[in-house]
Amino acid sequence: MNICMIGTGYVGLVSGACFAEIGHHVNCVDSDVRKIALLKKGQMPIYEPGLEELVRKNVKLKRLTFSTSIAEGIEKAQFAFIAVGTPPRSDGSADLSYVENVARQISTNLKKYLVIVEKSTVPVETCEWVKKTILRYDKKKVPFDVVSNPEFLREGSAVHDFLKPDRIVVGVESNKAKEAMRALYAPLNAPILFTDPKSAEIIKHASNSFLATKISYINSVANICEKVGANIEQVAEGMGMDKRIGRSFLNAGCGFGGFCFPKDLEAFLWISKKLSVDFDILESVRKVNEQQKLHFIRKVEEALWIIQGKTVGILGLAFKPNTDDMRFAPAIDIIHMLQERGAKIQAYDPIAMPNAKKILQNVTFKRSVYEAAENADCLAIITEWPEFAKMDLKRIKKTLNHPTLIDGRNLFDSEAMKNLGFHYLSVGRKTV
Ligand code: NAD
Repeated sequence: MNICMIGTGYVGLVSGACFAEIGHHVNCVDSDVRKIALLKKGQMPIYEPGLEELVRKNVKLKRLTFSTSIAEGIEKAQFAFIAVGTPPRSDGSADLSYVENVARQISTNLKKYLVIVEKSTVPVETCEWVKKTILRYDKKKVPFDVVSNPEFLREGSAVHDFLKPDRIVVGVESNKAKEAMRALYAPLNAPILFTDPKSAEIIKHASNSFLATKISYINSVANICEKVGANIEQVAEGMGMDKRIGRSFLNAGCGFGGFCFPKDLEAFLWISKKLSVDFDILESVRKVNEQQKLHFIRKVEEALWIIQGKTVGILGLAFKPNTDDMRFAPAIDIIHMLQERGAKIQAYDPIAMPNAKKILQNVTFKRSVYEAAENADCLAIITEWPEFAKMDLKRIKKTLNHPTLIDGRNLFDSEAMKNLGFHYLSVGRKTV
């Protein structure tokens, strides 16, 4: 089948490459000329494990091509996926201008029946708006269907998530589009849930908001553990053994970030307000997440007393491990708060430093965990990169000015850290 993937970012490029991998012909379109030029030269605009190999292989097999033109991209396509950004506006609502722009371009270039698939995360009723927009500009009255097919991949394991999804959600109105979507995804052999478009749109917002709720919930429980000297890891384990709850997303830490959770939570909250539905839980989830970053700063204060003039080594800048994505990363707010209090920051991240350099000022970027620890008054872990869990703690101890480690992701065992002679502060566990 022929697919035009519009928007070649974290979602579009992964989805495009994976659709090519399962045998379809995909033309990935992006308005960013630089990005398409890079891809045509065989270079990756983003870091995502396994993606480069997949792109190379499918380009070679002539199943994956790149273009800057939607007209060219949809010429032979049976499906046009909209995978452009839906960033937050200042009032929390999703900025849908990129989606609208693409819808207009599709409609003015429509020559034959096309299934238009909304892949971007959008508020409920966007499908309807896309449909209205296309009808408005489709002067030749070419038939089409609009389908909602939200994406659930996680950055860092996106290729795996796309190829082995828990479920595929397809919100569709016509039988023709439903069968076309079923055939498109058939090679994945994954469960498909067909719904109406509005329900599919809500499934995405509700899922991300729910996962964010789990994180804020466990962070609040962690704060109780800290007050009474209990251990959040044991609490989470005990809770997680209940199948109704599950262990995933019960990891206490210094807050969630990224391009999805914060903005999708905001957008869902905005929609609920627009519909006059009380959804106070979501307000609390957001509030807890903001406080959790401040709570981390309090730990730095607890360790150093005065932050002014101290050097803080930061480990991890990306919003999560195995990605270069810095969008809404907790490290940004945490570093700003430390800088406001007069700290000097030296930071290391295995992959995200080129992107971090565009966002963070007055930060010295280091080449390793050991360089980040050199002459620092404490070391703070913000992202749980696997390489941090394997670092040589004896060497770190010798390198630091004082053996103080503030672990925002609970990577180490408190007793072991105590035995190594560290002043070790973590989340929801006793300070040793
Ligand atoms: P991104 O910023 O990485 O990619 C969006 C791309 O769209 C950019 O390359 C941009 O240049 C391009 N674009 C914008 N306007 C265009 C136009 N008119 N024509 C062609 N290309 C255009 O964003 P992303 O992270 O891939 O997210 C895309 C959507 O998917 C968002 O709605 C997001 O919420 C959702 N989503 C993201 C993830 C994730 O982990 N990143 C997961 C699931 C869903």
